[in-house]
Amino acid sequence: PGDHLAWKLDNTYQRLPEAFWTAVAPTPVQAPRMVMFNRPLATRLGLLADGADANADALAQVFSGNALPDGAAAIAQAYAGHQFGNFTMLGDGRAVLIGEQITPDGRRFDLQFKGSGPTPFSRQGDGRAALGPMLREYVISEAMHALGVPTTRSLAVVATGEGVFREEPLPGAVLTRVAASHLRFGTFQYAAALGQPELLQSLVDYAIDRHDPDLKASPAPALGLLRRVVERHVDLVLNWIRIGFVHGVMNTDNMAISGETIDYGPCAFIDAFNPAAVFSSIDQGGRYAFGAQPGVAQWNLARLAEALLPLLAPDRDAAIRLAEEQLNRFRDLYQVRWQAMMRRKLGLAAIDGEEESDAALMGDLLQWMRAAGADYTNTFRALSDHDAPRPGQFADTAFTEWRARWQARRDRNPIALAEAEAMMQAANPAVIPRNHVVENALTAATGGDLAPLQVLLGALAHPYEPFRGDPACLQSGPAGFKTFCGT
Ligand code: AMP
Ligand code: MG
Ligand code: MG
Repeated sequence: PGDHLAWKLDNTYQRLPEAFWTAVAPTPVQAPRMVMFNRPLATRLGLLADGADANADALAQVFSGNALPDGAAAIAQAYAGHQFGNFTMLGDGRAVLIGEQITPDGRRFDLQFKGSGPTPFSRQGDGRAALGPMLREYVISEAMHALGVPTTRSLAVVATGEGVFREEPLPGAVLTRVAASHLRFGTFQYAAALGQPELLQSLVDYAIDRHDPDLKASPAPALGLLRRVVERHVDLVLNWIRIGFVHGVMNTDNMAISGETIDYGPCAFIDAFNPAAVFSSIDQGGRYAFGAQPGVAQWNLARLAEALLPLLAPDRDAAIRLAEEQLNRFRDLYQVRWQAMMRRKLGLAAIDGEEESDAALMGDLLQWMRAAGADYTNTFRALSDHDAPRPGQFADTAFTEWRARWQARRDRNPIALAEAEAMMQAANPAVIPRNHVVENALTAATGGDLAPLQVLLGALAHPYEPFRGDPACLQSGPAGFKTFCGT
């Protein structure tokens, strides 16, 4: 359609039984206008030759869904999920998968339009999305990628020229999401709920083909898949905890078996360290609070394991034992890897016999941060760099005592100080997408001024390097920040 992009689309999801998807075209929009186009990502996907130009109007036609590229075949995917603990049959209610782009290095990525109009799964929703939240997903998912966290990515945001109504009229938009796949824990729950073993088997085969092809030769592929998903989620949640990320809506339909962070609705970053931190206006009980995330991930994995039970072993009791083993493995791996992560954040090389005192050092710092209301990101970053400016709280006696213990422990490191600091700087970002900074940039962008958002994206592209931009990016925002789901 005149976009000059090098599309190489496949549509393997449609080889799954029709119970898993429904063909549905994006609903055309009135006046599409390109707002964001991620050129580095387009290049990595093989869509854009390096330095090549793309026509903005043609891109807007494509990434609004008005003109589908060659090889595209739009579908909405069926899935189920536990939403705040309640099991529901769901599906893409405002998104369509247009195909899987094959990259020059032979990798496969789903391209999904979000906000592309109603589908048979929309129920009472309008199938649309507002510009602010789609730009929010764009900036936060790209920040997460730069932070080294597995995540879906954002290729484009197109303003539709149409309004959406969310308590007030807002400008509409379509986001193009790029994902290793959209296989959710809830997709497996959906297959299990249909009660036909061959459907579940076909989904597991598909998932293994797509994400863990080496398991095809295994004597127990479904168990192998569960093991891998457990491992990927240990690492995923540890990454979230490392950088202070609160997903906000860890329903089982928002957890991907690829181990990527998916569904940027009400997510946010903590300022002051607080395990109870919640930002989502709909998470009244704190089910998805910052410190609850490892436990919720384990609960979600239990729902995935339940769905897989018929394939784990011929006899149900044996299957349950194998599933429980994997859930315990999540807990054990998490504990061990949490310590390893905290060692990196504190610049502690592992030393035999110091495990217990290291654990106390980690716990005591967190306790001090909680009591002092210290900023999570800035505290770790200040410790990482002996030249960094020290926030005021660091004058406090409890901190001074802790710091003396930490320095004594670091003096016993079998590595040089420079190496310990490099390890810390690679684990502790200098800059994160602070809620107040993101909100200001989004307010300007929805009002037509994209400059602050572009500056913010630039700052977030190299989060571990010493930060030289606007100091407002490094300050805790006002307390009481709330996000809204599903807009
Ligand atoms: P989420 O909270 O984004 O995970 O969405 C939960 C479910 O609600 C998914 O099935 C979405 O597709 C659906 N949904 C969210 N917003 C809308 C909307 N505006 N119209 C139709 N369905 C929606
Ligand atoms: Mg979702
Ligand atoms: Mg959502």
